[in-house]
Amino acid sequence: MASAVRGQGPARRTGPSRAVPAGPPSRRATPAGLPPGPVLPAPTRFRAKVVLAVIWLGAAVVIGLWWNSTPGIHGLGDWLTNAGRILGLLSGYGVVILVALMARLPPLERGVGTDRLARWHAMGGRYVIWLISGHALLIIWGYAAAAGVSVTSETATLLTQYPDVLMATVAWFLLIGVGIVSMRAARRRVRYETWYYLHFYTYLAIALAFSHQFADGAAFVTSLAARFWWSALYVTVAGLVLWFRAVVPLHAFARHGYVVSGVRDEAPGVVSVYIRGSRLSELSAEPGQFFRWRFLTRGMWWQSHPYSLSAAPSDDTLRITVKDLGDHSGSLRRLRPGTRVLAEGPYGAFTPENAGRGVVLLAGGVGITPLRAMFATLPGRVTLVYRASSPGDIVFRDELDAIARARGATVHYIVGSRAELGTDPLSAEVLRGLVPGLHRQDVFVCGPSGMTGAAVAALAEAGVPRRRIHYESFEF
Ligand SMILES: Cc1cc2nc3c(=O)[nH]c(=O)nc-3n(C[C@H](O)[C@H](O)[C@H](O)COP(=O)(O)OP(=O)(O)OC[C@H]3O[C@@H](n4cnc5c(N)ncnc54)[C@H](O)[C@@H]3O)c2cc1C
Repeated sequence: MASAVRGQGPARRTGPSRAVPAGPPSRRATPAGLPPGPVLPAPTRFRAKVVLAVIWLGAAVVIGLWWNSTPGIHGLGDWLTNAGRILGLLSGYGVVILVALMARLPPLERGVGTDRLARWHAMGGRYVIWLISGHALLIIWGYAAAAGVSVTSETATLLTQYPDVLMATVAWFLLIGVGIVSMRAARRRVRYETWYYLHFYTYLAIALAFSHQFADGAAFVTSLAARFWWSALYVTVAGLVLWFRAVVPLHAFARHGYVVSGVRDEAPGVVSVYIRGSRLSELSAEPGQFFRWRFLTRGMWWQSHPYSLSAAPSDDTLRITVKDLGDHSGSLRRLRPGTRVLAEGPYGAFTPENAGRGVVLLAGGVGITPLRAMFATLPGRVTLVYRASSPGDIVFRDELDAIARARGATVHYIVGSRAELGTDPLSAEVLRGLVPGLHRQDVFVCGPSGMTGAAVAALAEAGVPRRRIHYESFEF
């Protein structure tokens, strides 16, 4: 059944429909007032906790490494130096973990979710920069106190007589630079691609800082085993990055032979791109997931962008649907059939794992994309609520109605501005009225950040437990 309301009251349109299809979701910043990160299905939450527990366990082992290599502490200089050593070891461990989080490891990407990993990476990055800064300052102060010289003179000694320390200092400044560019205020002023490519300096920084750990770190100077395991950690993570960020996508490119097979206008400023390939079922891609797409054509080959699947994948075709929000998304309409594509993925944990109780899909604008794919494929009772500011903004109307008819599902279109509707179309009361038994169902929300925030608050007010409200950010 599909229903539409416009103008008076929530603009929805209801009409019988059964079905299962999708469109481009624009989930951007984490909505104000929401808990940080997506609310994840229980198994995903559990996996996230396990990953965090492993990371903390690693940190405990690192402190054990310091403990083992520290026979005793005597005097102020020694205390300061040892505090600096602990921070240094934790920094060395922290940078590797930060890189590992972004290594595109399938168990993490699919098990925990890309946007959650990106959030951990961003938060961890801030802590690591503080750890490194604390390490540098405490070591200098500690050495200066032990030698009875000034901090300035000790700094000069370290920089002029220890080349490894000089390289590590350059690394420290590089990391601070990347950290500054990543701060929210700066991010807004910097092009995404500029920010992204500046991040590559972190690899240089890690390489520059590596040698000073073995040359000057007390935990390593005397222990071959410690040097071996520490190197193994770095080499393993470097190997994983190389493997999953370069080898796997190139292998997929060769094996699946992705090419653009067509581009279709869906709505003003919204196009679907069809990508053909072979043996795509091997990817085990699920509705709700996304790929990073690199179209190998002039002006686009050097950047890859994440777009969700807007239809359930078949063995030879994938579809994405994209709203023109900038240079890349706006260029997709000019893609020519036959353009080769490097696709990395599938990624993301915005996938229902337990739809037994019934599912509500709540889409705003281009946020319909992953939900369109889920709508077509989710088993059981599914209700789609689709909020758009004008009828022209509705993407996939025919598909959604067809899916709804085919599977006996319900679609509610809520169309119009709040002023036109004369009410809050996503209030708890309206949602409860649209979806009987709402509080017993899982709800997946995808839309602009303001709408998502308001919808999540309204769902909670309508009695949907937080653990059953799922959303994912379209912004890393
Ligand atoms: C997991 C995920 C799934 C997405 N799915 C869809 C979809 O199905 N349909 C759709 O229309 N949009 C989707 N988006 C949003 C889409 O990726 C951005 O709108 C697009 O990359 C903007 O690029 P641009 O060059 O056109 O615009 P720009 O003006 O360069 O960027 C606009 C904003 O988009 C974000 N952005 C830009 N480039 C990237 C990038 N390479 N990676 C991540 N974020 C970036 C930045 O926050 C930037 O401020 C998705 C985003 C994510 C994170």
